[in-house]
Amino acid sequence: MTPVCATCGAWFPDADDPPAACPICEDDREVERIGAALEPWPFERIYGAWWDRVVPAAAKDAVRRSVGRYSAALRGDLPL
Ligand SMILES: [Zn+2]
Repeated sequence: MTPVCATCGAWFPDADDPPAACPICEDDREVERIGAALEPWPFERIYGAWWDRVVPAAAKDAVRRSVGRYSAALRGDLPL
């Protein structure tokens, strides 16, 4: 079995049991790194992988807010 993180899509080495937690999703530095990697790209919309999961406008600001909340929660500055 090849475990895949349902949140970030990271693949992990084959194992009988999936990892207890995703090291990318649980590290505020990784969340900040991903947010920084998106900064140079201009975009207004985000189309999700599932039906009706679309941010139709101002998506870049939504990503910035989400990165801030998520990394703050991982640092313990916000409740999850
Ligand atoms: Zn993950």
